[in-house]
Amino acid sequence: MIPEALQQLWKELAPYHAKLIAVSKTKPNSDLLEAYRAGNRLFGENKVQELVAKAEALPNDIEWHFIGHLQRNKVKYIAPFVALIHAVDSLKLLKEINKQGAKHQRIIPCLLQVHIAREEAKFGFSPEELESIVHHPEIKNLTWVNIKGLMGMATNTPNQELIKEEFSQLKNLFDKLKQQELPAHIHMQELSMGMSGDYKIALTLGSTLVRIGSRIFGARNCQLNA
Ligand SMILES: *Cc1c(COP(=O)(O)O)cnc(C)c1O
Repeated sequence: MIPEALQQLWKELAPYHAKLIAVSKTKPNSDLLEAYRAGNRLFGENKVQELVAKAEALPNDIEWHFIGHLQRNKVKYIAPFVALIHAVDSLKLLKEINKQGAKHQRIIPCLLQVHIAREEAKFGFSPEELESIVHHPEIKNLTWVNIKGLMGMATNTPNQELIKEEFSQLKNLFDKLKQQELPAHIHMQELSMGMSGDYKIALTLGSTLVRIGSRIFGARNCQLNA
């Protein structure tokens, strides 16, 4: 069913020119290969160890997206190859990514995570913190990171209006930053929002990257190394 699910999603995404990231966390390599053979090249993982193991085992033209909460001491393992780090949520983390980028002579693409959900549990900058981080005096020195846009997660709720409100807020912040004069290595190009349950709303509100797991691979297997 994986190829059919992908075909369906690509068809839905095409009018919006959005890209699909197949979120394969907890799934075995055989599932990822099935998606790969169906033509998928963008995969998302949220655990460093799992991402590194899969990247070693699977074809090397895969674009690996790190979508989870990233600990500073683990940046070094993904720095050599990660395509995009979606959830940067502190200046300290950004500095560490910059350091690892310099070490590997590789500019590392990142998104800043914004806390838009009403839920307490989600990570990310508040809108006020986001404003201050992009204008932070230290940020212009971090030339080994390329900040390509924003990422956010809506509240996990059946309330479509609330999801709409939260994604709209993120889109507004994105558009507002786009108008501003920012350091050369910050460009508002990508807006990572939308998961299996809310990607349709996210697309209508300007998402450029949707991160979809269960709709492609089925319900998650339990996370062994969480
Ligand atoms: C797991 C996860 C997803 C995908 O979730 P589904 O509901 O299975 O599509 C997307 N984004 C992040 C950050 C995730 O952790």
